[in-house]
Amino acid sequence: MSQSVDIVIGGAGIAGLALALGLADAGMSVHVVERGARPKLPDTDSGLAGWDARVSALTAASTSLLDHLGVWDDIAQVRVGPYQQMSVWDAEGTGHINFSAAQLGASTLGHIVENRLIINALLAGVDRRKRITVSWDDGVSAVDVADGAVNATLASGAKIEASLLVGADGGRSTIRELVSLPVRAWSYNQHAIVGTVELEASHEDTCYQAFLSTGPLALLPLADKALCSIVWSLDNDIWENLMSASDDDFVAQMNRALGPNCPEVLAVGPRAAFPLHQCHAVDYIARRVALVGDAAHAIHPLAGQGINLGLKDVAALAGELEQAWSSAIDVGSSEALKRFQRVRKTDNLAMMAAMEGFKRGFGSVNPAVRVLRNLGLNWVNQAGWLRDWFARQAVS
Ligand SMILES: Cc1cc2nc3c(=O)[nH]c(=O)nc-3n(C[C@H](O)[C@H](O)[C@H](O)COP(=O)(O)OP(=O)(O)OC[C@H]3O[C@@H](n4cnc5c(N)ncnc54)[C@H](O)[C@@H]3O)c2cc1C
Repeated sequence: MSQSVDIVIGGAGIAGLALALGLADAGMSVHVVERGARPKLPDTDSGLAGWDARVSALTAASTSLLDHLGVWDDIAQVRVGPYQQMSVWDAEGTGHINFSAAQLGASTLGHIVENRLIINALLAGVDRRKRITVSWDDGVSAVDVADGAVNATLASGAKIEASLLVGADGGRSTIRELVSLPVRAWSYNQHAIVGTVELEASHEDTCYQAFLSTGPLALLPLADKALCSIVWSLDNDIWENLMSASDDDFVAQMNRALGPNCPEVLAVGPRAAFPLHQCHAVDYIARRVALVGDAAHAIHPLAGQGINLGLKDVAALAGELEQAWSSAIDVGSSEALKRFQRVRKTDNLAMMAAMEGFKRGFGSVNPAVRVLRNLGLNWVNQAGWLRDWFARQAVS
């Protein structure tokens, strides 16, 4: 079977689906190919196991893109956790920094949203658009670029011809490999344990983050005021012990790590763990191919920026392609792709460098570095303008 569309996208994650909606709205025909099965409708029970262990802290830019695509209301109507404050501290010292939406003159700093709710709303958006088709349980397995078109061969043997192929197939992108786009990658030698916890008091719409020498521990406030989603990044020599600990032991260790700076944790739901690595494609584009989201850049989750950067890629690429399309210019031409790459690489590299600095600074056991980081955090907290500047970087 062979078919022809304007754009073929590999990967039906948040980045791939959001891009498909944006391109279809601009008038392009889109075929999305996803290796996995179509996700089932999420079950939104109120018990600890009824919450997705994978959540995203979405910035205002991300929610406004989802709104523009007509899917934010579908998500917000189910359940989202708007957060008004951030409280960040050095668990091995005295450094502490707090900031709030009110200080920035904003109504909120962002929203904590279960990933499966975002995917489900994007899929409902796909179902409403005639210009998008999705192949499930199939993957892009070969790519052939010819004059005027790119041909993607799927694992099932089907072939799709398009003007442009977009790799939105995640951190271990096959498409990136198939078109030989090199990466700079290294492992953090950490895993992140995620899950949902119940607190003894309200989270008060606050994101809590403790920096431990073994990795950061974040509590992200959910729509239910007694529940938070956790992301506990831990060095490779200790994460397995904690992952296999009993729930009671896990909760006790978590309360010890958090100390008195946030409400006590009473219980934990099902846990999952993910290896953490940093990966950045040297180039995001090749002939008739572009990468977006984690396929282009995967970063440490400590600032919750991964999909926010991915959605900025989506907005930038959709904008460039829409402009080319409306001017009857080939959407696979290098001019539009080069502009996309220039804009997004600069922004992504700046965020990746900042995350790397945080990760190294807080992972250090050097006493001089520890003193400096505590003095630095407290100084930033007291210097109002600098604290507000940091806050704006975290939420924009
Ligand atoms: C513990 C943890 C916490 C995080 N918290 C946050 C947060 O708070 N905020 C935030 O912004 N980010 C966060 N992130 C990062 C965020 O989850 C990722 O940036 C985001 O999921 C990447 O989305 P994506 O669509 O680019 O890729 P993915 O979600 O990886 O989707 C890729 C899709 O492509 C499919 N695929 C793979 N290969 C092929 C192929 N050959 N052909 C077709 N399909 C294929 C996969 O099955 C998958 O569905 C976190 C990450 C981790 C690990």
